[in-house]
Amino acid sequence: MYNKTFYILALLLFSLNSCSAARHHHHHPVAKQRERLPEKEPCKPTKKTWVMIDPGHGGEDFGTHSLKPPRYQEKYLNLSTAYMLKGCLQQMGYKTTLTRHNDTFISLGQRAALANSEKPTVFVSVHYNSAPSTQAEGVEVFFYRSNKNIERTAQSKKLAELVLNKILAKTQAKSRGVKHGDFAVIRETTMPAILIEGGFLTNENEMGKLRDPAYLKKVATGIAEGVHQYIAAEIDTPVAKKK
Ligand SMILES: [Zn+2]
Repeated sequence: MYNKTFYILALLLFSLNSCSAARHHHHHPVAKQRERLPEKEPCKPTKKTWVMIDPGHGGEDFGTHSLKPPRYQEKYLNLSTAYMLKGCLQQMGYKTTLTRHNDTFISLGQRAALANSEKPTVFVSVHYNSAPSTQAEGVEVFFYRSNKNIERTAQSKKLAELVLNKILAKTQAKSRGVKHGDFAVIRETTMPAILIEGGFLTNENEMGKLRDPAYLKKVATGIAEGVHQYIAAEIDTPVAKKK
């Protein structure tokens, strides 16, 4: 009895950890080949909910940078975090897409247009911060406040709060709170959308953490857990008035 339970659990865990392989195994004897396909074939979503991840900046637009050499550029930290976030969400069974997969320039308008045509459940833009004061530090999450779409504003704010709290729990970083932000990607999108500023490249202490991939993984895991908490509470529960 117990043995059987453990066996099923082990099978479940195995399929979680290698979902793309498991997904194709029954249909394709040549599963090995299919495993090598790039991220174009995400894990089969267990829900109709999915997440568009927007790594800020790219190409000629590098965002901000650290003050001392080697000069870390924001665009690379955003992309690294985005891929980690994608991995976390896939493990949880969510479908994801990225607005950019490599170091290319995409305009803010293009990013919003992509989201509005593909209609993800939520849109998450990943950034890191800078300030004239080298003392500034911590994490802040923005949503766009619109009087024209009160429901979307409320949903975005809720998402922002849950994501911020989970990032703080993972990283122990200083909280700068949830704020209204007039940024194109969260203003022009039509689904719940947030923009995360995961820390300051201009703060020497915080930059020391951000250059460690293990720290970026904590940021990404926090974002994923916050997104999951939001979707579980607001989208997947029967009481939520889905529209
Ligand atoms: Zn940025």
